[in-house]
Amino acid sequence: MTEPRDPFLPFALPDIGEAEIAEVVDTLRSGWVTTGPKAARFEADFRAFLGGQVGGQGGDQGGDQGGGQGGDDGLHAIAVNSATAGLHLALEGLGIGPGDEVITTTHTFTATAEVVRYLGADVRLVDIDAATLNIDPAAVEAAITPRTKAILPVHYGGLAADMPAILDIAQRHGLKVVEDAAHALPATCGGRLVGTLRSDATVFSFYANKTITTGEGGMLVTRDAALAQRAKVMRLHGMSRDAFDRFTAKVPSWYYEIVAPGFKYNLSDIAAALGLQQLKKAHAFQQMRAQIAALYDAAFAGLPLVTPPAAPSGELHAWHLYALRLGDGDGAGAGIARERFIERLFDAGIGCSVHYIPLHLHPYWRERYALRPEQFARSQAAYERLVSLPIYTRMGEADVQRVIDAVRGILA
Ligand SMILES: *Cc1c(COP(=O)(O)O)cnc(C)c1O
Repeated sequence: MTEPRDPFLPFALPDIGEAEIAEVVDTLRSGWVTTGPKAARFEADFRAFLGGQVGGQGGDQGGDQGGGQGGDDGLHAIAVNSATAGLHLALEGLGIGPGDEVITTTHTFTATAEVVRYLGADVRLVDIDAATLNIDPAAVEAAITPRTKAILPVHYGGLAADMPAILDIAQRHGLKVVEDAAHALPATCGGRLVGTLRSDATVFSFYANKTITTGEGGMLVTRDAALAQRAKVMRLHGMSRDAFDRFTAKVPSWYYEIVAPGFKYNLSDIAAALGLQQLKKAHAFQQMRAQIAALYDAAFAGLPLVTPPAAPSGELHAWHLYALRLGDGDGAGAGIARERFIERLFDAGIGCSVHYIPLHLHPYWRERYALRPEQFARSQAAYERLVSLPIYTRMGEADVQRVIDAVRGILA
């Protein structure tokens, strides 16, 4: 006979409540299941959120109907069916194409970089800052060539990248900046929410394991009116109704023109219904994850591991990931290999993950650009020691304690 065990604690779980379920049911009953009124409301609410009007710091339930009033005025929010789609549309709209280079971090998910290849442009991977695991601005500057057109930073784990330095480099070299903010809702940089900085575009993900979810989905945010217009046309087959406006103010409902071979990247109202309710909870969710991070930090002090860095004082960390590194600051002394550590966590019934297997180790990227680990010493060193622990709002206190006890037990 074996002891009854606690059920497996997954690495991540979405937090879908009755409000989300009711909103989806309402959508299903409405008869409008693809992109329609709820997607439009989700976009308006997202602008309002970035302007500080939805689910404010206390997680209040404001900004319900007809959000968007009083939002950040210059901001356009374009709902898409994934962040990958949003990144593709942003780069396409900025004119990235064959012969161009885009600089991004090796320490990310492949979606960040693959969109550059969709457009026939080339990816220049660079190393990270050893403390934050965010893209290293000095490495970005060193990688600039006459072909460089854009910089694509990632806010790793929900901690904002060094945007002042990146925006400064971009300005001095005449480069575009597109932020991969898949982890960064909500996060701040210089007291401003990611999504409202001076970059050309910012893209959020609502994938199942992200800080808010629509199952699959994303949001492209930009202040560039021309880019917003292009992205709206390209997310739905390159279809435009604007051409008709030149001749008459009254566009018949059946009329459209195809102005480009566009994509099928629109967000359905079923997904947007989830997003409308999740967005209201985004700040409350962030506070719950920050609380778990604080419990981990306190419990792991003194153990041979490096806890993830906090956000600078006064800044918001989205805490999408809690990625610790085994060993002390120099990587020595954990007394256990990362692979074995993960096995033991699984044996204890706890899911975990590794963020990321850097792109320079994957066959496609390695072979296409003849990459060697020595070119990315800090990402490589981090990768060999990284373990991401569960950090999500459906974890109870007992779940957090269970993870803490397991980590302590393994390192004892
Ligand atoms: C999840 C993720 C993406 C892709 O998001 P999708 O919405 O699944 O397309 C892109 N970049 C990073 C860093 C991610 O974590």
